[in-house]
Amino acid sequence: MPVNRSSPEIAELQPGVTTEPGTRGDVRLVGRRCTACGVRVFPARLRCVSCFSERLERVVLSRLGKVDAFTVVREAPPGYHGPVPYVLGQVVFDNDIVALSHLVGKPVDDWRRGDIVASYVLELPAGSKQVPHRTFAFQPASPQDLAEA
Ligand SMILES: [Zn+2]
Repeated sequence: MPVNRSSPEIAELQPGVTTEPGTRGDVRLVGRRCTACGVRVFPARLRCVSCFSERLERVVLSRLGKVDAFTVVREAPPGYHGPVPYVLGQVVFDNDIVALSHLVGKPVDDWRRGDIVASYVLELPAGSKQVPHRTFAFQPASPQDLAEA
């Protein structure tokens, strides 16, 4: 499963999920912060999930997060052309942002709650659509990731 560490351009990976370049070929996820109540959301939304204000500002999120829960997916869902089994995890980062995504970079049975991870762009095989699917994912944080946090 190739992990693309060299996606220097600001990109919308999927609706509401945007990234901006990090300092060394990595990417940072971009969320929104409500200017009325301060709640932050990811992926981006048009309204605050807490007070429904439409006054949301762009906020670049930390690359580092902590695995809060995960499951091993052994049966591929329809339309998925990547390898199985794979790990789907809930990651908490910047204290209050929760994201659900692939956990990659080590064997599926080696993941633990509390693992520290960093965000990356993940390219999944195209299947019949001929266009690879790009999304965000998390890998174990490297010593360099931790040093830059
Ligand atoms: Zn709000």
